[in-house]
Amino acid sequence: MSDKVLVLNATYEPLNVCTAKRAVVLMLKRKAEPLEVSERLYHSSRDAFRLPDVIKLNYYVKVPREGSRKVSRRAILARDNHCCQYCGSRAHLTIDHVIPKSRGGATTWENIVTSCAPCNSRKGDRLPREANMHPRTNPRPPDPFAFIYMAVSDIRRSWLRYLEYAAV
Ligand SMILES: [Zn+2]
Repeated sequence: MSDKVLVLNATYEPLNVCTAKRAVVLMLKRKAEPLEVSERLYHSSRDAFRLPDVIKLNYYVKVPREGSRKVSRRAILARDNHCCQYCGSRAHLTIDHVIPKSRGGATTWENIVTSCAPCNSRKGDRLPREANMHPRTNPRPPDPFAFIYMAVSDIRRSWLRYLEYAAV
């Protein structure tokens, strides 16, 4: 049984996933309130109550805008399904600046794609139209809630409406 709890910001926006123990501490300190409870019971020295499935913080946590989250090689590869965006290869993966740095390209989610080493060296310092090599997908910042799907193997039913609400 998973003991993960979905944590929502004061605005109901999904924030992260924590352990049931951590969620109980937040609730006892009145920093969070339960929105959904599970069948599982928590026993303290004095009483017992149902463990939360979803909690909402009573204070607002400032979240960096998705576009400003730091670009990392690992996140780029995960976003691109570990697949070269030029030829589809899954071997010898590197990351490539679509508009090369030497041509003024920035290190941003929108300008970096997964590329296998052969495609990367074939493209070199050329622009996509000069090399006639265009990424298969339009590079974007990753799904802001991807971390939630990575943190748990199965998303509980009680979480869905909060994730769907936030995705709209
Ligand atoms: Zn390739």
